Amino acid sequence: MSSPTRDRSRGHVPEPTARGQHIPTPLLTLAAALSVRAVDDNLPTIQPGLDWDRMETDLRNSLSLHSSTWDYWGAGWIPQACRDFATGHGLSPYDFTVFNVHYDDCSEPWIMCRHKDSHASEIDMIGIFGRMPVHMRSYVRQFMATPGLNDGIAGLWMYPGDIMVEDRPLVRLLAHEMSHGLDYMALTQYGQPFSGTDIWRNNYAQDSAVPSDYSRTNFVEDFAEVGIIGVYDKVVPGGIGTIEPSWNRIFHQYATYQGYLGDNVLPGGSCRARVGNSQVVPMGNSAKTVRRDDLLGPKPDVSFKNSTITVINPDPKFKGLTHVNPGHHAH
Ligand SMILES: [Zn+2]
Repeated sequence: MSSPTRDRSRGHVPEPTARGQHIPTPLLTLAAALSVRAVDDNLPTIQPGLDWDRMETDLRNSLSLHSSTWDYWGAGWIPQACRDFATGHGLSPYDFTVFNVHYDDCSEPWIMCRHKDSHASEIDMIGIFGRMPVHMRSYVRQFMATPGLNDGIAGLWMYPGDIMVEDRPLVRLLAHEMSHGLDYMALTQYGQPFSGTDIWRNNYAQDSAVPSDYSRTNFVEDFAEVGIIGVYDKVVPGGIGTIEPSWNRIFHQYATYQGYLGDNVLPGGSCRARVGNSQVVPMGNSAKTVRRDDLLGPKPDVSFKNSTITVINPDPKFKGLTHVNPGHHAH
């Protein structure tokens, strides 16, 4: 296993640990116009309940970290997605560090934005993101880390593929958030989101349970929770049956996730499609800062240079659609 390198110095990436997080109120602000149907039949949570901490450990041990290098943006420029998220949450864009992370399995870097007070360090961001299968990463546009926003959430996904975390990300959290991207963008030939199609609904109806309480929120969240199971079952030796005796009660859901997504959820390979980066804007947005922005260095070019990579263009009708995740910490 190789470690990311930071500029020219090579360093060990400490293993972030799964740690508990107190969630005062699992208050969900499902911001977007959630036109997604509620789960009509609302299957119960599987019993015995899944051991999410064990799953986190197993996932971490089974998904190897891709080596990477990273470099920092010049002062004053930021992806619009990061600036909009910052200003929308009362944060200053100037408090964000923007950096390109180049993993060994994709010629195009991922652009990440980290607020200086986030509990997720740059190493946490790079190290956990870099364990995820490349085709799951490919449906992520910008990856952000912010300080705690006192909103009771562990993670947030926003169309077309921006992921925000407040704390050191867990593998299972990223598997959940990345599954939203797959749901909305990887299977568009069947419907968007896939979890809103009859295919998903019919398979759901053949099961007698869902993976977690949060799965019961709606089909979109069920798909994302199932995504954790789907990935686990593929990458951890022995699969989900080794830790969940009632696995057959959720089988149709995770088998559908695995079957339709195919190698999108398997480690290995290299990137073949990516969500195009958000446009680059000055950190400052007011007329007053325009003159100052004139003094900035050249604007970073975030277009993809490798023509073999298909650019996934977002559908404007979903712009800003947001799903939040309280995480499993509340269990
Ligand atoms: Zn979610």
